[in-house]
Amino acid sequence: MLSPLALIGIVIVSCLMSVAILGSLLRTAVPGIGRWCVAHALLVAASSWVLIAGGQPGQFVMIGASLITLIAVLLLVQGMRQFFGKGSVRHGESVAFVIIFVALVYFTCVSPNIDARVALVSIFLAYARIAVGTLALRHAPRDGARYPYRFVAAAAYLGALFHVTRAFAVAFGMPQMDFLQPSPWNVLFLGLAIVTLPCLSTGMVMLAHDQLVRRMEQLASIDELTGVLMRRAFMARANVLLREAVAKGKPLSIAILDIDKFKAVNDRFGHAVGDRILRHVTSVVSARLRSCDLFGRLGGEEFAIVFVAARKTEAAALTDELRLAVERSSNEDVRCTFSAGVECVTPDDTLAGALARADAALYMAKATGRNRVVTASEIDERDVETH
Ligand code: GH3
Ligand code: MG
Ligand code: MG
Repeated sequence: MLSPLALIGIVIVSCLMSVAILGSLLRTAVPGIGRWCVAHALLVAASSWVLIAGGQPGQFVMIGASLITLIAVLLLVQGMRQFFGKGSVRHGESVAFVIIFVALVYFTCVSPNIDARVALVSIFLAYARIAVGTLALRHAPRDGARYPYRFVAAAAYLGALFHVTRAFAVAFGMPQMDFLQPSPWNVLFLGLAIVTLPCLSTGMVMLAHDQLVRRMEQLASIDELTGVLMRRAFMARANVLLREAVAKGKPLSIAILDIDKFKAVNDRFGHAVGDRILRHVTSVVSARLRSCDLFGRLGGEEFAIVFVAARKTEAAALTDELRLAVERSSNEDVRCTFSAGVECVTPDDTLAGALARADAALYMAKATGRNRVVTASEIDERDVETH
């Protein structure tokens, strides 16, 4: 049978490993990771202190180790809030921390009561686990893998369950539940609660990795200047929409937008003003697009839109509304308009093919005066007329 001191040894080893792993991730500046790292280091310190003191730690050791453990647990919760971009400190939590610590000193030095001490610490630890688990579930991102968040929640709630059970066992008079008592029930509850700690620490590392992956995905897919999708990400998502449209038998159209005489704006007003216009045009277009549509920057001052469930004429009308909105939003000094080519994608089509035809229509829009929307069929009609 495991003894409580052996369990403490397990805590020390697992927390040391967590400090090493979380420490290696410190330079990533993932919010909360500093607090998690310090919390695990404090748990190593508190556990080592108790282990060194042996089977009969004195009052000073018990109070000191308990204080360090409570601080560590508080830091774990605060780190979790920081990770999710929330204010880390909660007033009520700090007050509860102080009350529990004062009560611990009272039940250790003034009126020694082991059961009360065990119940107090167990309830605080259970609260911290529930807070961590609830934060992970409530703030799990809706897109992408939610597995790390559910893993953290499961480890946290399971730990909370064992701490609560231990507190109830003491409250209902189960004997020998003191922290270091080698009684089977004590070792079982304590052991189960302790085993969930490395799971929780692993879950925190998973969360940090998840955030790093998201950051990398963001860097690879979002254009820094305008905040819209970059070409590669746009094409990938457009292809998904195309496959969905073909599967559902729905129409899909694509538009290519190109800002008019943009080089002249740069030459006359400078690149900073040019950049501002790029941001302005994207914000006007993004604000007016239907939520189902896809918008991206193909490069330079060229953008593309995928209109979901829209035939060519409907897509051309929507693009023309955007054109008018941009024209109306630009001021007298720096005029800003765009031209666009629109094409629909047929079931046996490729995205590249449709884009090439939309590009030809855009060329026609530029050639016939700019600040206008031309559909690919208009080119065909002109071709027929000229033959
Ligand atoms: P047109 O009406 O025929 O499209 O003329 P244009 O001047 O817009 O087209 P052109 O292709 O000659 O010029 C595009 C300009 O866009 C050239 C380039 O300096 C500018 N540009 C591309 N990317 C950026 C950017 O990120 N910021 C700024 N400020 N300018 C950019
Ligand atoms: Mg241009
Ligand atoms: Mg261009």
